Amino acid sequence: MRSTIRKGDLVEVITGEDKGRQGKVLAVDARKGKVLIEGINMVKRHERPRGSSKPGGIIDKPAYIDRSNVMLICPKCSRRSRASWVRRGDKRIRVCKKCGGELGS
Ligand SMILES: [Zn+2]
Repeated sequence: MRSTIRKGDLVEVITGEDKGRQGKVLAVDARKGKVLIEGINMVKRHERPRGSSKPGGIIDKPAYIDRSNVMLICPKCSRRSRASWVRRGDKRIRVCKKCGGELGS
């Protein structure tokens, strides 16, 4: 089963501390059912210095959250929606369940 959320999608957090916030999907872990979203679920990480350009210290980084905690923002209708995979000829594409717009593969 392929994830209906893909890297680069805009999503909205629907539960937890970041509820109502939107961000771009940076990475999807389909096996674990988790997504990494820009600016969401920020955690402090201690980084070791790596040369003069990266001095280290405490930095904020997004951490993976459960895929079920977010909903896709459809780029066609701008509503919170879900996508489903449909077959078009010999290709599978994603479509928005609300407006039917094609969201690419
Ligand atoms: Zn839509």
